[in-house]
Amino acid sequence: MIYPQYIQPVSLTEIFRKIPQDKKIYFLAGGTDLFNYLRDGLVDAENSCFVDITLLKYAETNGIVEETENIKIGALTTFSTLSESKLLKQYCPDLVAAAKVLGTPQIANRATIGGNIANASPAGDALPPLAAHFAKAEITNSKGSRLINISDIFAGPKKTTLANGEIITAVIIPKIKAKSGFTVVGTFKKIGNRKSHIIAKASVAVFAVVKNKSVDYISVALGAVGPKIIEAKNISKILTGKEISPELTEKCKDEIRKIVSPIDDFRSTAEYRLEIAPILFQQAINEIINE
Ligand SMILES: Cc1cc2nc3c(=O)[nH]c(=O)nc-3n(C[C@H](O)[C@H](O)[C@H](O)COP(=O)(O)OP(=O)(O)OC[C@H]3O[C@@H](n4cnc5c(N)ncnc54)[C@H](O)[C@@H]3O)c2cc1C
Repeated sequence: MIYPQYIQPVSLTEIFRKIPQDKKIYFLAGGTDLFNYLRDGLVDAENSCFVDITLLKYAETNGIVEETENIKIGALTTFSTLSESKLLKQYCPDLVAAAKVLGTPQIANRATIGGNIANASPAGDALPPLAAHFAKAEITNSKGSRLINISDIFAGPKKTTLANGEIITAVIIPKIKAKSGFTVVGTFKKIGNRKSHIIAKASVAVFAVVKNKSVDYISVALGAVGPKIIEAKNISKILTGKEISPELTEKCKDEIRKIVSPIDDFRSTAEYRLEIAPILFQQAINEIINE
């Protein structure tokens, strides 16, 4: 078997000094997706280089930091760390809920948020919450860094808009604070073949600022029901400034049926996804208003 070239730089500077220009670059973070692609023959080993970035962990790209306007999450932060973060529980409870249901504990200990984004699967669990927060990814290359919307990274299923050798170094989530009497709430619902340890057939993230059923702010995004993550912007228009009621919830469910574009694949059928996506939304709404 031919293996890809392998290098293990210890800093971003070293990465850009050492990466070969004539090869397809794969950054190796947790390896929970990448090693499967290698095993399944999806990597052209002869013309590829695996750049192991795990030694960057404790330097430039790990951990969760509170800034004045944002929460900054290093790309190498694992889902176990996300699921235990008090800061994220305060500002992004939907992301914490998603992190808690990603894979098995063994996978969550290795899988990183940067890998989940770069893998560009519409079923990636971190992606609906990140889209619901209008998060940005910090992309770094040899010339510097830039921020792009998470949704703009996706060129389609498993395809990103990143240039060869560009690395995601962080995720930036704007902080939304609750006004007096209101509370930040959020959740993530997904469905698969079993009750746990599943890749989503459909998923939904809801992030909101509420007082009982009164909505001051709400943002909803859906996963695995289209080629990319779907931001349900009209749901914010329907519910913001209103009391959540069965009638308005039904209106939102109709909106979901309109905006999803599910497909048949080995995990599910388009018909089932169309049916289940509004139900997951209903479950999420019931949870955030404690019904
Ligand atoms: C048993 C099992 C269960 C799983 N369950 C789930 C689940 O429930 N939900 C879910 O969403 N996923 C699940 N996954 C998929 C996987 O664990 C996640 O997508 C994970 O977040 C990938 O992160 P990683 O660090 O392992 O990425 P890697 O495998 O290291 O890399 C994945 C891809 O991203 C690229 N990459 C990695 N880091 C960066 C970076 N910083 N910048 C640029 N490119 C980068 C790599 O080159 C590669 O193309 C599962 C996988 C397995 C094997």
